[in-house]
Amino acid sequence: MHRPGCDPDDMRESDFLCDFCHRDWTVAAPFVEGHHGSCICRHCLETAALAPAPASDPFHCSLCLEERRDPAWSTTSARLCRRCLVQSARVLARDPDGGGTPPAGT
Ligand SMILES: [Zn+2]
Ligand SMILES: [Zn+2]
Repeated sequence: MHRPGCDPDDMRESDFLCDFCHRDWTVAAPFVEGHHGSCICRHCLETAALAPAPASDPFHCSLCLEERRDPAWSTTSARLCRRCLVQSARVLARDPDGGGTPPAGT
């Protein structure tokens, strides 16, 4: 997510917040951006990969915004579908700043 009140024409790393833990990019880098400015940090991806939730009622994934039922991870502020977990892990693995390895469990 983007920090409320941020200037869209002058986005800084501190204006990007992880939708799941609300830490900003400067603290929680690396980040993966989803649709509509939604973001997840590597820390949350690793946590999600190690602790996937069981299938649930239909929910809207915070990253792809699509309705899902597949195993998801959620915090009080956002929910993640399995597909986004895998895709985000791949993005991080390709990103030289992302550590070069997929998060454990993905
Ligand atoms: Zn996070
Ligand atoms: Zn998703």
